[in-house]
Amino acid sequence: MRIEDIRQRLRALGAKPPHELRLLRDWVRARPHERSRRKPENFLPLALREGLEALDAELQGLTRLVSNHPGEDGSARLLLALRDGMTVESVLLPREGLCVSSQVGCAVGCQFCMTGREGLIRQVTSAEIIAQVALARSLRPVKKVVFMGMGEPAHNLEHVLEAIELLGLEGNIGHKNLVFSTVGDPRVFERLPLGPVKPALALSLHTSRADLRERLLPRAPQLTPEELVALGEDYARKTGYPIQYQWTLLDGINDTAEELDGIVRLLKGKYAILNMIPYNSVPELPFTRPSWDKAEGIARALHQRGVLTKLRDSAGQDVDGGCGQLRARALASDGS
Ligand code: SF4
Repeated sequence: MRIEDIRQRLRALGAKPPHELRLLRDWVRARPHERSRRKPENFLPLALREGLEALDAELQGLTRLVSNHPGEDGSARLLLALRDGMTVESVLLPREGLCVSSQVGCAVGCQFCMTGREGLIRQVTSAEIIAQVALARSLRPVKKVVFMGMGEPAHNLEHVLEAIELLGLEGNIGHKNLVFSTVGDPRVFERLPLGPVKPALALSLHTSRADLRERLLPRAPQLTPEELVALGEDYARKTGYPIQYQWTLLDGINDTAEELDGIVRLLKGKYAILNMIPYNSVPELPFTRPSWDKAEGIARALHQRGVLTKLRDSAGQDVDGGCGQLRARALASDGS
């Protein structure tokens, strides 16, 4: 189900444009109960009121909370079931953020990611993306939505942009608090500047070396780090928000002196923030996490050399914090 299908259903039930907007807004803000306070009989046609109950139930059923795993840092990882039983992860982030999934599985196949091992299973529809937000808002306020969960949003571009538009126009989320995260698909740089809601952009860089990037992100578009940063800089200047470059720190692989020189060469003087996230080790994958002290030293050195660097921990580090791990564990325990 797409958001556009819901709009058509509402119109078929007799919703006029203001009703349609109000009902979509109530859904994305997780407050259908407010309709009763506003006395719907005063503004909704009878056929619409009758039809809404069934539609509400369908929208509620788009995502179901399977399990909730609170972390010590104020985050919580949620395992959600979609209507066909497929599972995805959302993460309640500290400071009222939410990380949503845009695909079940992912075709990019990043070597350090559990989701990438599955390949793409199916797209998450725009309505299912909004349903993740509505479900999270039934648990706590959400003021920021990042598309950094399972999947590559650029591979599900129409649905993700449709969801971003609704969140930005009716969902009470500032446009720069919508963060589109990608490994760097050229279509993103063409489409994002054209939309009515221009999200902030996070680009997964991970290395300054083209050869290593090809190995770590084997099915990402073959842009060199220089090309990616040039496209990012152009978008940052157009929108007025800095690009967030993502760098998963892998011990002994992309935390070398050569890489630090490469980062300075690429990002010094750019309208950019470098988010360094020490890798969250999992037994199934052959990478290790550098010590926090080492990571702090790297971030400090980059700062001193003129690159705005933020060292972050993967939210929910203590509860299978890496992308795709909850789903992988749940599948393993199902024996499937
Ligand atoms: Fe896909 Fe993101 Fe995992 Fe890479 S890190 S395989 S883009 S979900």
